[in-house]
Amino acid sequence: MKPKKILITGGSGFLGSHLCRHLLKEGHEVFCIDNLFTGRKDNIEDLTGNERFTFILHDIVQPIDIEADEIYHLACPASPPHYQLDPVKTLTTNFIGSLNLLELAKKYNSKILFASTSEVYGDPLIHPQKESYNGNVNSIGPRACYDEGKRCAESLFFEYYRQHHLNIRVIRIFNTYGPGMALNDGRVVSNFILQALKGKDLTVYGDGSQTRSFCFVDDLISGMASMMNTKKDFTGPVNLGNPAEVTVLELANKIIDLIGSSSKITFLPIPKDDPSRRKPDISLAKEQLDWMPAVTLDEGLKKTIEYFIKYGKSET
Ligand code: NAD
Ligand code: UDP
Repeated sequence: MKPKKILITGGSGFLGSHLCRHLLKEGHEVFCIDNLFTGRKDNIEDLTGNERFTFILHDIVQPIDIEADEIYHLACPASPPHYQLDPVKTLTTNFIGSLNLLELAKKYNSKILFASTSEVYGDPLIHPQKESYNGNVNSIGPRACYDEGKRCAESLFFEYYRQHHLNIRVIRIFNTYGPGMALNDGRVVSNFILQALKGKDLTVYGDGSQTRSFCFVDDLISGMASMMNTKKDFTGPVNLGNPAEVTVLELANKIIDLIGSSSKITFLPIPKDDPSRRKPDISLAKEQLDWMPAVTLDEGLKKTIEYFIKYGKSET
């Protein structure tokens, strides 16, 4: 493959840093833009000596001018406690930030991919979720800054496609986990692993009967790159995730078992608007990208636990 100049927003976050590594391995030149809100320099420390890698400390709410062949637009906090810390900023990042990136793509005729989310389906009334489902989102609830922010960004992408003929790609990512997640990320997999390693109670919200479908990060990155590289005239949106669905309580017990932990489970109130179930229908990704996840939840959790054992010991 001919080396390309690639811009990644949110490149020092969890998914972004894996993507940087993947694209550098393929021989491309990578510009990683991040304001370090939830991203960490540690995530990309191993890349800083690479002459094809450039880190740019920048907030995408401000315009930026870099010519690139491709843009992967990932910048946005993804964990509920983090995106709810400053909800107006989350909305601004999704609207103004996406607008800035789309203008940049228009200026240089770059292909641009947007990392959208299964949250656009809200608390879904259709199960599993297909791309044709328009969702059930509370536009004024505590998750709206993220859900509606992403929905608005999707709209922007499709208007730039129709009005300005931009080459866009939209992926809807379902819960993804793996090594490189921030220890203080606040999402369920990292919380449970850290709690189980320390022998603390695992904090299950509600009765734990709500479901999620967890995708290992390597699978997700390969799907994301396939979507960018597909020769087809395929904009998406396309679901990327692992359809193996588990309840949150099953996940808690699985993590306790895999670690051999003495931790117990404690039940805490369920946050408002927490979706009761979530599972991707990935038939479109299979058909268009010939993609499906390969890593089972047990295999992926073992690798993630190893990472947390190595880096999470000193964390409280
Ligand atoms: P993350 O929080 O680890 O990474 C997000 C990155 O964006 C961070 O490095 C953060 O500092 C950066 N960022 C945030 N606001 C910014 C701004 N205004 N300007 C510049 N940089 C900014 O989260 P992640 O899990 O790596 O998620 C990456 C993307 O994928 C997000 O857009 C998220 O919505 C999407 N996504 C992730 C998941 C998942 O399960 N991991 C699921 C659905 C969608
Ligand atoms: N959750 C939980 N305990 C935690 C963190 C999360 O029970 O310590 C639950 C949360 O209520 C939700 C599920 O796990 O039902 C996934 O939460 P996460 O924040 O990881 O992602 P999202 O809700 O965005 O899918």
